[in-house]
Parts: sequence; structure tokens; C-alpha cells
Amino acid sequence: MTEKRKLQGGKVWLVGSGPGDPDLLTVKAARLIGQADAIVYDHLVGDGIMDLARPDARCIYAGKEASNHTLPQDSINALLVDLAREGLAVVRLKGGDPFIFGRGGEELETLAACSIPFEVVPGVTAASGCAAYSGFPLTHRGHAQAVTLVTGHLKDGSVNLDWPALARPCHTVVFYMGIGAAGEICRQMIAHGLPASTPAAVVRCGTMPGQRTVLATLGTLPERIDQSGITPPALIVVGSVVALHDTLNWFESR
Ligand code: SAH
Repeated sequence: MTEKRKLQGGKVWLVGSGPGDPDLLTVKAARLIGQADAIVYDHLVGDGIMDLARPDARCIYAGKEASNHTLPQDSINALLVDLAREGLAVVRLKGGDPFIFGRGGEELETLAACSIPFEVVPGVTAASGCAAYSGFPLTHRGHAQAVTLVTGHLKDGSVNLDWPALARPCHTVVFYMGIGAAGEICRQMIAHGLPASTPAAVVRCGTMPGQRTVLATLGTLPERIDQSGITPPALIVVGSVVALHDTLNWFESR
């Protein structure tokens, strides 16, 4: 299963590191991180994961916190091209899954335009990690037949989403990057037809030792977020499945 041979240089592997717990890395991600000549990583890459890198690997922090972009996206794209052109085996490491709100597609388009070979390694996305470690299935025959992953942070700073499509019964909606817009999100979901009593939760630092779940309703969530001082990284989850946390929560109650 684990290939030991040296990685081929001049190539980029776009790798998901999962939601935080290093044990949720895929076997393939762990192998690539341990073999890469260079690793360009984000701030959401969980503690301990970079310890798997070779001692002589070039490790470059590319940052990305909501309002503190350490390296602009264009510079990250250019950096990946430069490192690959030096003949290095480059791992571009991103939190969660690189194709879910990870800008992975944009980085690969640049590589493709420069004829640099690449591979993609999926990771456990935050919604799956938080649901598993917080004890609520994203779908459940008695609660939700559909799940939608949506960003609460648009490029222009607005939250201009398709609210009628999101505010549907028997549906779980997971908002990534939504903490700053929690008030607007809950207002719109209620305005588009969901009862204010609909269960809603926020999960901060899912799968990490400090994971925290705050349970509320659409009517009370913004106030509960303010009171509890929850800051990113956190997901907002809306739908009756979150009420299962009381019974299925195994991680925070351990
Ligand atoms: N590609 C990532 C998402 C990147 S967007 C993935 O697939 O998970 C960044 C947002 O993801 C954060 O603002 C937060 O909303 C969410 N997120 C990432 N890791 C998280 C975690 N461990 N716990 C809660 N939310 C997380």
C-alpha cells in the first residue's frame, strides 16, 4: 500500500489534510507529505501534520485567514509553478478537501496553463469531520434527505445566496466561513420559510482537542455565538439532525 520510492520531481500534488485531527489524514496524504521536496501549506492544516515532512523539505506557509491573506492567491499560484520548474516534488497542502471551498481548482488551472503535471488527493472535509465528531449525521432517514455545503463568505463580502433553495424542509445546510454572517444567515433562513425553532449549531475546531459545539435554533444562534465568543474556524449547521448531538455526541463528552 505504501510506496517508498522517491517522488517524481517537477510536479505538484494538491492534497487535502482533513479537518484537523492528524489521524484523519489519508494514507496517501501522509505518504506524500513524508516524501515531498517542498510543501506549501495553509493555516487550517492541523497541528502535528507538518511534523511528517522530511527534515530537509522546504516548508512554506501560505496562510489564509479570513481577513489576513498571508500570500495573495496569484503569488501562491506563481510559487507552485516556480517550485515545480525547479524540478521539485511539491505538495500543496490544504485543510479539509482541496476541492471544497479550497480554491484548489484555481491553483490547478494555473498549473495546467503552464503545462505542469499534477495530481489531486481528496481529504475529509470540515462538514464530514464536524458531523462525525459532533455526533450528528448530515443525512438521516427521519430528518434530512439532502445536504448542501455552502459558503457564508462571498468575494464581495455579501451573503447573496439562493435562500429559497436553502430554506427547505428535510434538508441539512452547512455554512462554511459563515460566523461573521451568522445574523444574516439565520434571518434569511427564517424569512424564507424555516421556523425560528429549527435546530442550528455551530462547531468550532471540529475534530481537534478543543472542539466546541454550541446548540441553538435559527432564532437564537446569533446571540449564542456572541455570548460564547466563538471565532473561526467554525461551521454553522442548520437542520433537525443537529438535535441528535445530545444523544450521539461521543467526542466532546469523552
Ligand atoms: N477545504 C476546506 C474548507 C476551507 S474554507 C474543507 O474542505 O474543509 C475554511 C472554512 O472551513 C472555515 O472558515 C470553517 O468554516 C471551515 N472549517 C475548516 N476546518 C474546520 C474545523 N476543523 N472545524 C470547523 N470548521 C472548519
